[in-house]
Amino acid sequence: MKPYERVLAAINLEEPDKVPVVPQITYTTARLLGIKFSEAMRNAKALANALIAGYTGFGYDGVYVGWESSFNLLAEAIGCKLREYDDSLPSVSEPLIKDESDLSRMKVPNPQTDGRLPIHLEALKIVNEQIGREAAIFSYIPGPLTLAGILRGTEKLLMDLLKKRKFVYEILRVSTSSSTQFALAKLDAGAQIIVVADPTASSSVISPKMFEEFSYPYLSVILSSIKEHGGTPSLHICGNTIPILERMSKTGAEILELDSVVDLATAKRTIGRTVCLQGNIDPARTLMMGAPSDVFTQARKCMDAACEGGGFVLSSGCEIPLDTPHENVRSMVEAARRYGRYG
Ligand SMILES: [Zn+2]
Repeated sequence: MKPYERVLAAINLEEPDKVPVVPQITYTTARLLGIKFSEAMRNAKALANALIAGYTGFGYDGVYVGWESSFNLLAEAIGCKLREYDDSLPSVSEPLIKDESDLSRMKVPNPQTDGRLPIHLEALKIVNEQIGREAAIFSYIPGPLTLAGILRGTEKLLMDLLKKRKFVYEILRVSTSSSTQFALAKLDAGAQIIVVADPTASSSVISPKMFEEFSYPYLSVILSSIKEHGGTPSLHICGNTIPILERMSKTGAEILELDSVVDLATAKRTIGRTVCLQGNIDPARTLMMGAPSDVFTQARKCMDAACEGGGFVLSSGCEIPLDTPHENVRSMVEAARRYGRYG
């Protein structure tokens, strides 16, 4: 089977030849080519080359195109100012929405022309042209609540959820449209799987009741637009999601990316027959700080818990940290190849 066929079989809740393995590795690949972030942020070809080098060097089944920074870059295209660094991700220098009077400062960007979004689309085109016939192509966009948190400042937004709900709905309206437009443009540029990442919607951050009001409806809108546009919708929420797993499986997502604190066996038992599960090796403690043998052991545990009957992609629980040793990524891929055979 080709790598993308392996991933597709898992999405269709079938058994591929082997468990597909797709680490959530984006900017860490820049280190492979010795490229600085500041260069990859400006130059679509440099970004694409780093991602392709990761794919060919490690031999996994899918590529995440676009850095985690695409969250901040979308905020920038909406109107936020970013602070930039030579060799780390840019951050938002100050929130765009300080009070109600700032709501009119937000505009839904055109991904083809605004800010640095065209660079991301160009990188997707290059990756798709070069490896799109064999690799599964994933790309992240920010979930509406998370993007709203970047625009408003996350701590302030969390207070607003309690006291200023109409104000929050207004920000969510623009962030939902902005993320949707970016998602559809990424599909047109060659992404196959759009991963809507909404870390602020985690049960580690807000209650399940707040998730129901401020995240679920907006996620459902984006995920169904992705599906209608011919893409595969995936949902990534960091940290503890055990209280909302059932609801996450009803959003329309066809893949759920689960973080390392979620027990995969429980997830498999409760929702694993209706949605493909992806995860969940601990990115910091195991992948960044552990030995290759620790990675191999945890990869086996993940596969034991969730690969039976298909519908599983072996992955990290979240984005792979920058200084993760390369041999640990290799060990993860090797575990899937050696231990993850079906049939
Ligand atoms: Zn995460």
